[in-house]
Parts: sequence; C-alpha cells; structure tokens
Amino acid sequence: MLADVLPYLSCPHCSAELVLVGGSVRCGSGHAFDVARQGYVTLLLGKAAVAGDSAEMVAAREEFLSAGHYAPIVDAVVAACAGVGCVLDLGAGTGHYLAAVLDASPDRVGIALEIAKPALRRAARAHARLGAVGADTWRRLPVRDGAVAVALNVFAPRNAAEIARVLAPDGRLVVVAPTAAHLGELVSGLGLLTVAEDKAARVTASLPGFTVSEQDPREFVMSLVHKEVLALVGMGPSAWHVDAEALAAKVAELPSPVRVTASVTVTTYVKGE
Ligand SMILES: [Zn+2]
Repeated sequence: MLADVLPYLSCPHCSAELVLVGGSVRCGSGHAFDVARQGYVTLLLGKAAVAGDSAEMVAAREEFLSAGHYAPIVDAVVAACAGVGCVLDLGAGTGHYLAAVLDASPDRVGIALEIAKPALRRAARAHARLGAVGADTWRRLPVRDGAVAVALNVFAPRNAAEIARVLAPDGRLVVVAPTAAHLGELVSGLGLLTVAEDKAARVTASLPGFTVSEQDPREFVMSLVHKEVLALVGMGPSAWHVDAEALAAKVAELPSPVRVTASVTVTTYVKGE
C-alpha cells in the first residue's frame, strides 16, 4: 500500500515530507498529487524525459515472468537483498522482483519506482507491502535522503548520484545486468540487440562512489515455446527495434521448444571508493 511507504518519500517540488489526505498525497507547502484509481501516485515535475514501456511490452513482461522462467534470477535477487529496512526498486516494471523480496521479509516495505503507467498499475497490486510511485529514475528521486536500506536495479538504467543520496550509510545497491551470453541463441537468429562483452565493467563504471562487495553470476537454460519467445523479446529493449511481423516469421522457423540461455550477473555494491 502507498501509505506504508509515504514516510520514505518526499515532495518532488520542495523535498518536504508527504502525507495522504483523502485521495491525494500532499506536502506541508500545499503541493498535491492525485492517487490513481489503481493505487499508485505519480511524483514527477512536468513530463518524463524518457518514454516508458508500452502496454504491449508490460503485458509481455507479466506473461513471461509470471510463468517462472526467470525464477533463478528472482532467487538471486532475494538472496542479495536479504535483511531489514526499506527496499527501493528503480525501474521496477510490474513489481515482480520487489514482490519476491518482500515475500521473503515479512517486516519490510518496498517502493516500486517506475515511469510506465501500464507497469505502475500492475506494480500497485503486486504486493500488500509495496507502494508504486510514478517517477523518472534519471531525475531527482522523490525519496528522502538516506531512507533506503537496499536499492534494486534489474535490467534498468541507474543514476548513481541519486542512488547514493537515498541509500542509508550502510545501504546496498543490487544490480542485475545481462552478460554477453544472455539469450545468445536468439540474438543472432532474431536480430536482437547484443550485450557488450564488458557489460559488468561498464555497469560498475557507471556507478562512481560505489564499490563491488559481491558478484553472483547466474546462468541457466530455459526451454521456451514460440509464444514464450515472443513474450521474451517483446518485454525487452529489442521490442523497440524489431519489426513485429518479421520477428514472428523468424520465430516460426525456430524449433519448439527452443533452448535459450539466460545469463546475468547480480552485483551488490556498497557506498565508498
Ligand atoms: Zn512540496
């Protein structure tokens, strides 16, 4: 519920604390933000600088993730986030990973920050202790200084300075990023975006002020039917770049089921050089 996470949030205009009054979230200076019918609130100044995932991409994501194909990644995320305190998921999508983290920790609350409205609608009902907040993760986050025990970032962009600001001094940042082997069987055959060989180093380079404390590589093979391959491509960054008809034709030529490798690194960072 949104009310559970309000103590951790701040007004995007003036950084003051926020309270729930009727159907809106307000600060002491009179800035007010309507709570959407679906239970999320958008704390954003003006329009977002980035386009969020489309309704089709979000539906594909929900379909693929709820079938459990990425369960080993979910398990690694839950392990890396273990502990106490508020969990902030940056670019939370449908709230799938954050809900699993909260399931494993009965006393915690979680904030799902996300820009795409179709994803926010789903995130808002993903877990009883989760609050869904519309925000642009490239801008100042509507989160109070030092309020967060764990920041989670799964296949999403990240803003190091803002993450450092909202993390508690002993807080952790958990980043899930693909390796060059991720979905390798599909990349060449379907013309998907490739992942750089030095992806892990690039992620770390994008996080000045953070130090790696643990790295947990996870690689496993999924067995996917064509519909699942289409959902997997449709939920990822390649969805923007691949023509739907051409993709369907190429997928039809794959064996069914097809073996597809998932390969990610789950990296835990702490603050400090
Ligand atoms: Zn305000």
